[in-house]
Amino acid sequence: MISKKMEGFVKNSSAIRAMFEEGQKMAAVYGKENVYDFSLGNPNVPAPDAVNESMIDILRTESPVMVHGYMNNAGYEDVRSAIAESLNKRFGMNYDAECLIMTVGAAGGMNIVLKSLLNPGDEAITFTPYFGEYRSYVGNYDGVLVESPVDGVTFQPDLDALAENVTDRTRVVIINSPNNPTGVVYTEESIRGVAEVMEAKQKEFGHEIYIFADEPYRELVYGDVTVPYIPKYYRNTIVGYSYSKSLSLPGERIGYVALSRDVDDFENVYAAAKTANRILGFVNAPSLQQRAIARCLDEKTDVAYYDRNRKTLYDALTADGFTCVRPDGAFYLWMKSPEPDEKAFCSKAKEKRILVVGGSSFGCPGFVRIAYCVSYETICGSLPGFAELAEEYGLR
Ligand code: PLP
Repeated sequence: MISKKMEGFVKNSSAIRAMFEEGQKMAAVYGKENVYDFSLGNPNVPAPDAVNESMIDILRTESPVMVHGYMNNAGYEDVRSAIAESLNKRFGMNYDAECLIMTVGAAGGMNIVLKSLLNPGDEAITFTPYFGEYRSYVGNYDGVLVESPVDGVTFQPDLDALAENVTDRTRVVIINSPNNPTGVVYTEESIRGVAEVMEAKQKEFGHEIYIFADEPYRELVYGDVTVPYIPKYYRNTIVGYSYSKSLSLPGERIGYVALSRDVDDFENVYAAAKTANRILGFVNAPSLQQRAIARCLDEKTDVAYYDRNRKTLYDALTADGFTCVRPDGAFYLWMKSPEPDEKAFCSKAKEKRILVVGGSSFGCPGFVRIAYCVSYETICGSLPGFAELAEEYGLR
């Protein structure tokens, strides 16, 4: 018999994963090229050659005991130093190796931070729509996920609503920009506004309220859009980063958490997160990946590839009459469902062999998410099906 808590998690298990598995079944029946699977944020762009070459070189040249061994639960010190230096150069921070913990992706990073901060019943706020796994991650530590709305047109945070939602039980506000699922990048004005609200609330309640900046999509931005580095605007910020999307390594499970020494209760938060990395069973982030990342800090993914997909899809779908948020970052297009019940729309799309994920998975019914981190052929192949849907809904 499994625990009551796990019963709940299994029951509400990820619709995105279910859709992905369904896509694989459909591919076996219709052929992979005839299924337009936009369900999962699995990058289609391969990891840069330098990443693969680094791994091979490390295996050939570095001591096998070192490469495959245990190390400090926070990760290799030289790796953390290299990342700290790179962040200091990019963002004018003052990190050192002891401000970083190497993690099992962004998911591992968020879990060690939430485990460190939340007592049962404590609240973690996030802006809706949000990456659905937040609900499970907060639930892991018996916290309460509080959904705070965004502006219905810009999808930027609604600051008045945030101010209302912060309570004495709020320990952390999770901010994800560039955002999954909307592709929206929160502006500097938004981040300043969030910081102001939170400073005021910290004073009102007399204790620290952290921001957890979940940033796996930081490098995926288009045109001249920039992503504000939140610790520069709000001192009590803990950054969670991942190489899953920025270097196309989602299966390798590598990322980090960074917190400046200026963060309130720094020593305890750092020690707790490092201990959480161990006792949650991660022990440490994958060793070979840590060593490879340290050699590839200036490597970049092919953003132009995603940009072409983005433009092609956005232009075609808006021309069809669909209402979409123009994405500035990440690799997701957020589209209004042409009927209120987005699940019904997802089913109709499936009849055209187009797989998209309903907004309910992100706490925002009435929309769908289209993950365009797929091949250009998939984008182009899907367009006639979308056009037929537009026709059937009378949008054209
Ligand atoms: N946070 C967000 C917003 C994501 O979209 C994802 C993955 O899609 C994650 C965290 C988890 O990333 P990782 O694979 O690095 O654990």
